[in-house]
Amino acid sequence: MRRKLAAGNWKMNGISASLTELESLATVHANAGVDILICPPATLIHRAAETTKDTGIRIGGQDCHANAAGAHTGDIGAQMLKDAGATAVIVGHSERREDHDERNEDVRAKAKAAIDAGLTALICLGESLAQREAANTLDIIAGQMSGSIPDLATGENMVIAYEPIWAIGTGKVPTLEQIGEVHDFIRTRLERRFGEGVGRSIRLLYGGSVKPANAAEIFAVPNVDGALVGGASLKTADFSPIISALE
Ligand code: 13P
Repeated sequence: MRRKLAAGNWKMNGISASLTELESLATVHANAGVDILICPPATLIHRAAETTKDTGIRIGGQDCHANAAGAHTGDIGAQMLKDAGATAVIVGHSERREDHDERNEDVRAKAKAAIDAGLTALICLGESLAQREAANTLDIIAGQMSGSIPDLATGENMVIAYEPIWAIGTGKVPTLEQIGEVHDFIRTRLERRFGEGVGRSIRLLYGGSVKPANAAEIFAVPNVDGALVGGASLKTADFSPIISALE
């Protein structure tokens, strides 16, 4: 059985005062029946990990460098995230692929670095609106999967998030059939590549305009094991009902 996962990506949001959101989240959802992961900006990881200590709520990074250490000004290595208290890191988010020109091979190297450091790599995939309209979604996902997912993936060290780019921060959500089609496709390919046991154990999250109002119906789609939530993860008032919908 795959344990459900509610993951929040704070993106470039959050200062010290935002830690109160984690305090209130822990008040309601400490040691919940589902996994909860919050990925704040790197500046807050250490304090967020302290704030959520012994609550079962986990903290993650939003990116890591492919190298363990070295002359890479401004970058952060996976071991550093782990040392700061992270247990996971998002890699290959579409905003990184776009803003920093990250390609599948970069994402794969980052995912490998994360896993080598003992972190869970949360690998993001997703098509653009033009690709969806050209009926290329499944080809794009297949290419991202073979290019971005390292060979050493297991159900413990890797999570995949399907985030259609056109659904991120737009309020637009694919139909439940469209979500189901992509998640089934990803599952089948994982089983083919890693074998049934491992392929079935890897969790698949949906991301893109998940809100309290649409969470329950999205979570009812087969092969949706949780969500990667952006805007609605910033406030406990929004994120809490999403977690509850998963429980
Ligand atoms: P929104 O939930 O704000 O659409 O963002 C989704 C996302 O990009 C999470 O990584």
